Amino acid sequence: MELKCKNCGSEEFITRPNQYDIYKFVDGKLVFQNSEVTNNEVELFCRECSERIDFASCDLIGKKHG
Ligand SMILES: [Zn+2]
Repeated sequence: MELKCKNCGSEEFITRPNQYDIYKFVDGKLVFQNSEVTNNEVELFCRECSERIDFASCDLIGKKHG
C-alpha cells in the first residue's frame, strides 16, 4: 500500500497530540497528577500541510493501539 498526502504529496505524518499529562499547581509547585488518554484512535496528519490522512488501521505498524 502506498500512502501520500493528497494535498502536497508528503510521505511523513504526525499524530495529533491526543494524550496529555495533567499537572496541578499546588503550594507554588506544579505537581504531576496523571496521564490522560483522550482518544484511543490513532489519527495522522501531514507533517507538511496538516491535511488529515485517511489510512487503514491494519496498515499501522510500530505502535499498539485500541
Ligand atoms: Zn500534505
